[in-house]
Amino acid sequence: MNEQANVNYAETLLPYERRWAWAQINREAIRTNLKTMRKHIGPDTMILTAVKADGYGHGAAEVAKVALSAGSKYIGVACVTEGIKLRQAGIKAPIIILSEPPVSSAEAILYYDMVPAVHTVEFALALGEAAARAGVIAPFHLKVDSGMHRVGVHYTDAGDFLRTVSFHEGLELQGTFTHFATADMVDSYGFKTQMERFEHALENIRYMGLNPGIVHAANSAAAIRFKRSHYDMVRLGIAVYGLHPSSLTREHVRLEPAMSVHARVNALKQVPLGEGVSYGFTYRSPGNVEIATIPIGYGDGLARVLSNKMDVLVAGQRYPQVGTICMDMCMFEIRTRPNMTSVRSVQLAAERKLVDYGSEVIIVGKSQGQEISLDDLAAQVGTINYDMACMFGRRLERVYIN
Ligand SMILES: *Cc1c(COP(=O)(O)O)cnc(C)c1O
Repeated sequence: MNEQANVNYAETLLPYERRWAWAQINREAIRTNLKTMRKHIGPDTMILTAVKADGYGHGAAEVAKVALSAGSKYIGVACVTEGIKLRQAGIKAPIIILSEPPVSSAEAILYYDMVPAVHTVEFALALGEAAARAGVIAPFHLKVDSGMHRVGVHYTDAGDFLRTVSFHEGLELQGTFTHFATADMVDSYGFKTQMERFEHALENIRYMGLNPGIVHAANSAAAIRFKRSHYDMVRLGIAVYGLHPSSLTREHVRLEPAMSVHARVNALKQVPLGEGVSYGFTYRSPGNVEIATIPIGYGDGLARVLSNKMDVLVAGQRYPQVGTICMDMCMFEIRTRPNMTSVRSVQLAAERKLVDYGSEVIIVGKSQGQEISLDDLAAQVGTINYDMACMFGRRLERVYIN
């Protein structure tokens, strides 16, 4: 290293100058999706934007800033560390930790002015004690288990639970919520049962003379499909990112994906007939092909099970990915010799120089009318778009536009 030059390349280079693979996040899509959702749910319901798992891979702090500027009141995170990072990034809005953190984090939660979900007496008392020591009152949201059986106070016990903890002067019930397990599915029986149970819990709480505070239940799927589940606030995650929680929500709202995944070709080679490509030679050259390499692999979220099963786009053309996807790279195939009986094939051959050293490759996103979506890849992997977005968010650096 040249000490004298003293250039901080980590800061002076843009993400795509450091590495020819990056995730692009379109802030305008996030704003548009929030506007769309606002229109769909009406003016009176508050919006919490869920930015857990680094904003579903989109960058929690950036997404929070954009969402707050576009009408979201609350921010939701999964854990204390995520909340602290947002505070350190200058986010001032109320932050709700959506599931109960460990008792040992109570002081940190108060210090960073966060509001935890509560579902055990142990945590409630630890929070109350920490608040009393600090001379403050700790707001919390009661999590009710209405049937998902993950976390939460059983719906028939919600009233009693609050009786047990509400004597504590350090605690203040700011909200009551539940979470749906099946709001994205065709059969709405489970969803309706959860709604009824949650309302039963709310009745109990009120019957005991307590105010449940901000009542919330709906995730994106419920917010889009079931008006009755909106209450005081909806908790939106996937819809803000422009993805659908299931095919059932597509008929109700138009969303615009915020994330696209890009790379540039960093090697191109002729591979003779019969030669293998990548680990295990799961692909062998059929002859008359060029193999292009891009520096993105399963370490970046391009799941290894997609090997030989996905396409990439260059200048509106689809090319099959070939060979086993490596941790940091993968390859795709360009046919170089036209099949003379097919006009299309001759055209393709004429266009083939569209792929060159440095050519931009779309792994997820649009290219001249062609599109490969997170849903397309998720279907091949056997998972959901949520999972794909999170995975692409882990190592790829992000470029924000608009
Ligand atoms: C993640 C999360 C949401 C948002 O769910 P989407 O399906 O992404 O809209 C809502 N509520 C809770 C408790 C969550 O953890």
